[in-house]
Amino acid sequence: MAFEGLADRLQNTIKKITGKGKVSEQDVKEMTREIRLALLEADVNFKVVKDLIKRIKERAVGQEVMESLTPGQQVIKVVKEELTELMGGEQSKIAVSDKPPTVIMMVGLQGAGKTTTTGKLANLLRKKYNRSPLLVACDVYRPAAIKQLETLGGQLSMPVFSMGTEANPVDIAKKAIEKAKEDHHDYVLIDTAGRLHVDSDLMQELTDIKELVNPDEIFLVVDAMTGQDAVNVAESFNEQLDVTGVVLTKLDGDTRGGAALSIKAVTGKSIKFAGMGEKLDQLEAFHPERMASRILG
Ligand code: GDP
Repeated sequence: MAFEGLADRLQNTIKKITGKGKVSEQDVKEMTREIRLALLEADVNFKVVKDLIKRIKERAVGQEVMESLTPGQQVIKVVKEELTELMGGEQSKIAVSDKPPTVIMMVGLQGAGKTTTTGKLANLLRKKYNRSPLLVACDVYRPAAIKQLETLGGQLSMPVFSMGTEANPVDIAKKAIEKAKEDHHDYVLIDTAGRLHVDSDLMQELTDIKELVNPDEIFLVVDAMTGQDAVNVAESFNEQLDVTGVVLTKLDGDTRGGAALSIKAVTGKSIKFAGMGEKLDQLEAFHPERMASRILG
């Protein structure tokens, strides 16, 4: 299960302090030391950990906590609030353009789960919001990628717009939006090309598509299992494209949690959705508070 190691360690630490009728500065010091180690071991960004611990310490030795009747529980509340804050507020809303179709560009490295997430998002838009999305295959470098999106479209009984591997991705995106208008689709989901690593050709292509289609959302798809790499990838994509949100995939795997806990603090962009499996209905809104509760038990 995701976060297992982190959750175990934090819960053990917390147990020691919860019932205390009095919490000394020494207790707080010991607790924050253990929290710090647990977070670093879960691959949370070093600077993120440092800032978080500083805030927890300041608040935990503050008057409000020390003078309360249940200081142990107050300290835990502080930890929970700070973890929630770290992951950002509630962010799962999807943009709606006043001039349909609303255009969403999906970006990310190859293997992160971009194409699968495009299908999942289309499914969610239809099921939850009663929308009619058009899926667009802009990855012209891998014929398998177009096929994969077409297969997903088939499973969802949704149309997929593609122009094969010869066309230019910017043209495909442009024509797809015209087609969406003709056929009265209210959303256009553009599945762009990925690479194994961040590279300047890819970034240029994505920037060109962005400039042309002026998307309402750019969702960056990152693989939670890759820990700090996911955070670095998010930073690079965000610098280039100024993404509007992050989808963290494979949270059903046994990720240590570093990416989920660092992305918002490092990039300033919130995690909007979490991929919880390979199936098309396994995309969930990302709730920082629930995630913090899950980690702290
Ligand atoms: P892309 O190259 O970024 O388009 O990645 P794909 O959509 O092809 O996904 C790569 C692999 O990750 C596929 O085997 C997907 O089934 C799998 N995958 C995607 N999202 C999730 C997820 O949330 N959980 C799990 N367990 N697997 C996922």
